[in-house]
Amino acid sequence: MIDIGVNLTNKRFDKDLTEVIVRAKNKGVNQLIITGTNVDESKKGVALCQHYQQKFSNTLYTTVGVHPHDADAVTENYLNDLSQLAEQPCVKAIGECGLDFNRNFSTPAQQLKVFEEQMQLAKQLNKPLFLHQRDAFQTWFDALNPFIEQVPAMIAHCFTGNKEELLKCVDVGMYIGITGWVCDERRGVSLQEIINLIPLDRLLVETDAPYLIPRTMHPKPKSNRNEPSYLPFIVDKIANILALAPEELISQTSLNAQQVFDLPS
Ligand SMILES: [Zn+2]
Repeated sequence: MIDIGVNLTNKRFDKDLTEVIVRAKNKGVNQLIITGTNVDESKKGVALCQHYQQKFSNTLYTTVGVHPHDADAVTENYLNDLSQLAEQPCVKAIGECGLDFNRNFSTPAQQLKVFEEQMQLAKQLNKPLFLHQRDAFQTWFDALNPFIEQVPAMIAHCFTGNKEELLKCVDVGMYIGITGWVCDERRGVSLQEIINLIPLDRLLVETDAPYLIPRTMHPKPKSNRNEPSYLPFIVDKIANILALAPEELISQTSLNAQQVFDLPS
């Protein structure tokens, strides 16, 4: 299994990160893609990949980018910083970037500017885009449309939208990342009902750890911190909905992730 979205630079992993990675590998989660959310976090992501390169070969990769929440805080040089980081072989995508109008931690105008600049960067560097979107679908979709043919791939990470939105994403060939949101017996229901509309060769799985612990875990872990070793709960839920053997879903989603992020197998 490949966890395509995990926030390993979050301080909730500071104390036991090595154990977290070992537990993931013991559950068959062999490759992890760290999510970069701003320049500092992206630097930390790259540093983690380098730190663990010897101990866990071919395991940690990262994205580098600026989350829309952090758009107001970018420096004048942030694109240069991202571009330099992206020279490291462990960097597999630009992002997470996009729009989040849910609470507008950054102004919508600045979010859009920083989103567009990162799409330009992905185009320049020929890297896939790791995308975030919340309460901003139409503006987000209109903004990314001109770049669809200009970047190698787009990944709609932590997809939680509706059927119409999903079909629009699928229609332009986007990859769709599904998290433990799908395991939620209340707010995950609408996602459960449309997951079969994602072509199998566009489906990706992710924990978004430490957030979104799968609510299908019984007994629930003492801590509510999610971690990559819980990815099988998400895989099992999706396999169940799609009436597939988990092994089949695992081999397909792993192949998808290897292709889209250019990972060695
Ligand atoms: Zn996100």
